[in-house]
Parts: sequence; structure tokens; C-alpha cells
Amino acid sequence: MSPNIPSEQWAQVIEKQGSVTYKKIPVPKPGPDEVLVNVKYSGVCHTDLHALHGDWPLDTKPFPLVGGHEGAGVVVQLGELATELKIGQKVGIKWINGSCLACPYCQRADEPLCAKASLSGYTVDGTFQQYAVAKAAHVARIPDECDLESIAPVLCAGITVYKGLKESGAKPGDTIAIVGAGGGLGSLALQYAGAMGLHAIGIDGGDEKKKLVEKLGAQTFIDFTKTKDLVADVKAATPDGLGPSACLLLAVSEKPFQQATQYVRSRGVVVCIGLPANASISAPVFDTVVRMINIRGSYVGNRADTAEAIDFFRRGLIQVPSKTVGLSKLQDVYELMQAGKIAGRYVVDTSK
Ligand code: NAD
Ligand code: ZN
Ligand code: ZN
Repeated sequence: MSPNIPSEQWAQVIEKQGSVTYKKIPVPKPGPDEVLVNVKYSGVCHTDLHALHGDWPLDTKPFPLVGGHEGAGVVVQLGELATELKIGQKVGIKWINGSCLACPYCQRADEPLCAKASLSGYTVDGTFQQYAVAKAAHVARIPDECDLESIAPVLCAGITVYKGLKESGAKPGDTIAIVGAGGGLGSLALQYAGAMGLHAIGIDGGDEKKKLVEKLGAQTFIDFTKTKDLVADVKAATPDGLGPSACLLLAVSEKPFQQATQYVRSRGVVVCIGLPANASISAPVFDTVVRMINIRGSYVGNRADTAEAIDFFRRGLIQVPSKTVGLSKLQDVYELMQAGKIAGRYVVDTSK
């Protein structure tokens, strides 16, 4: 091990469901096809809160678990097979930490669908620690000129919404509804949508989110806590009154999943991305058929989507609205997120 790598480090550890403990733990060692990354900053995604509460029908690794999957840092140690990366190179650790690279899904670059995919901060320890391990083939390559603090949220939120926008099939000039527009994924979705030439209707609740959503370029903001008829308001916000061509569902609540098929225009695409616990989506068969509605899921992105989403950031098209606090304050961030009080994204600085 290089003399610069300490044997212990600070981390936020889930030792029992529902809370994190800030403590020192050993620095992990990379396997042959892995790298050790000195994580400088990590975004805090709502998925980390689902892992903390264990509310999904998917098991985490046995505790202790280190969460986090929007980690931006530098490579400090290479496994013997990790020859394509360099010490000191900027990289990102994303949700898909590794995949088998051999199954039918991996062969077609659908790595998120790989049954053996390992998930950062969920099935393997993630980025709420100063040193984290990731598979060399999967770490995101971050160009030198990119600032690690501001790019961190792109590593999950950015990739996910960019992929979701591609899945929506929306074309430049189309209108898209972004549900949960003032949250972490939503605030990035507004900017990727703008960069792709789409008009956006932002849906969220409260004045702070309204201000952010309008600043990020939404043509209309609809407050789901105030509107009397959300479906009518969304349709009315499109120039011809027929509804948006597509909708990205990013909210952590079931109700908007039931509403979207009603306001999307005929032949429209409803893209499900948010993962509220125990939620279902249903739609009347008759309307779905005669209006040719498409309902689909979109799950993070593959390595090419990652590189493309990062390149939008590198070109200055994406400004992440984020606040940075020390890693030691993670529990406070979780409480704000639980209360729905975060406009944009929180990032943690692992040095504090
Ligand atoms: P967030 O808490 O930052 O944002 C959620 C936003 O939804 C908040 O601003 C909230 O006010 C808003 N909201 C709540 N109810 C609403 C309603 N009825 N209508 C409109 N807006 C509403 O969360 P986030 O980090 O952006 O993550 C969102 C969800 O996406 C989580 O469930 C997360 O696990 C999931 N996620 C999925 C993927 C994927 O690949 N599919 C990737 C990352 C995150
Ligand atoms: Zn995430
Ligand atoms: Zn695979």
C-alpha cells in the first residue's frame, strides 16, 4: 500500500436500520480488477435514504453498510488488472459499482439490468467514506477540468435523468413534465431537458422549489400542494392544450404516478424513475389503448450514458444547485430530505 494511504478513515456507517454513526473504520483494499478512490465529495441521493430505512423490496449487504453513490474523487491505488486508469486521475463512483460484463444484458450494454450488478452504498460499501473501492471498468472517467464538488450529483442524478430523457423519446421543441422538479434529480432534469431543446413544466411543492424550478428554466411551475386540478393545469400549460409529449416521474410519492397517464398527450411516454416504497402504477386499459400511451421504467444509465451526461456538464450546460456540508453532518441532511425540505442537492465534503 502506498505510504500516503492511511490505514483508517472517517465514514458514516449504518450499523442498524434508520441511523448513521460517524466513526473511524479501516480503509478497504481494492481487488485485482478494482481501484481505491479517495472520495472528496459525495452527493446525497434519496436512494441513500431508502437504504437507510430499508423500505425497498431489495436487500442491502448485511450491516455495517456505508451508503453513498455520487462520489467524486481521485484514484489512489490500482488493482493489478486495472491498467487503464492512472494514480491521481479524477473518477466518479456511481450506483452501478460493477457488473459481470458477460451476461446477455451486459453484452448489450444494459449493465444496470445485470443480475450480478453490485450497487454502491447498497450491496457494497459506497462513498460516505474517505476511501472507497470500485470496479475499474465501471468508474466514471471525469475530465481533469471538471470540479469534483460540483460534478458529484451528476454521478447518479445527472446520469439517471439524462437516460430518462432519452427513454422519453421527446424531441427538441417538445414539452415534457418533470414531476419532483425541485428535488435532486428534478433540478438536473430541468437543465438536461433545456440543453436537449425541450420545454419543461416543473411540478413540485412550495415557494422555495418554485423559485428554483423557475430559475432553472421551466416555462411553467405547478404547485401540487395548491392546484385544484393538476391534470387540467398540466394540459393547459402546453401550447395546444393537449398535454406534454412525455413525463419524467421523479417524486417519492405514489399519487403522481397515477396522474401522469391522464395528462400526457396521446402517444405520450410516461417514464417512471422515482422509487416510492410499496407503490403501484395503474392506468385504465381503454385509455391506454385508444390514446396509445407508453408507460416505462428507466434505471440509472450505462457507461456510455455516464460519459455523455458528464460531457454535458463539462461543456458548462449543467449547473448543479447544491449546498455542501461536512460528511459528519449526514444525519442532518437525511432529516431535511425526509421532510421534503431540500431544493436541489446536498453534497458532503469527506474531509469535514
Ligand atoms: P428528492 O427528495 O431530492 O426529490 C423528490 C422531489 O419530489 C422533492 O422535491 C419533493 O418535494 C417532490 N415531490 C414529492 N411529492 C410530489 C408530488 N406529489 N408531485 C410533485 N413533486 C413531488 O429525491 P431525489 O434524490 O431526486 O430522488 C427521487 C427518487 O428517484 C427517489 O425515490 C430515488 O430513490 C429515485 N432514484 C431512481 C433512480 C433510477 O435509476 N430510477 C436513480 C436515482 C434515484
Ligand atoms: Zn442515486
Ligand atoms: Zn452482467
